[in-house]
Amino acid sequence: MKCRKCGVDILPGEERELYGEILCEDCYMDRLSPARPCDPWAVHSAKSFGGKPVGENELTPVQRRIIELLRETGGTELPVLSDRLRLKPADLERELAALRHMEKIRAELRSGKKFICLWDTPRAESA
Ligand SMILES: [Zn+2]
Repeated sequence: MKCRKCGVDILPGEERELYGEILCEDCYMDRLSPARPCDPWAVHSAKSFGGKPVGENELTPVQRRIIELLRETGGTELPVLSDRLRLKPADLERELAALRHMEKIRAELRSGKKFICLWDTPRAESA
């Protein structure tokens, strides 16, 4: 019997089956592992943090600074953020989009201005 992925001969009883494919032990572990060689960040995190759940550790340093600033200020405007972080607006927008996707931050209108604040910040009383 041969491994479907790498073609190595598998000893009887040593084969592993995953999604209907016969794999050798190595390829099987490879498929099950969340850290893929094509994802350097995942490999890096798994090494740095011993494979334990990461939480805020999965944020980039810039994203962590954004969170800190928002925690400090209770929410602030985009130009203030890009100024404090010395980021180009386009770069900042990209980081914010990622954070929004993770439900770490959100935007809200305060007196008609767009503010960025932490996801769990209580909503402003008046719209
Ligand atoms: Zn294999």
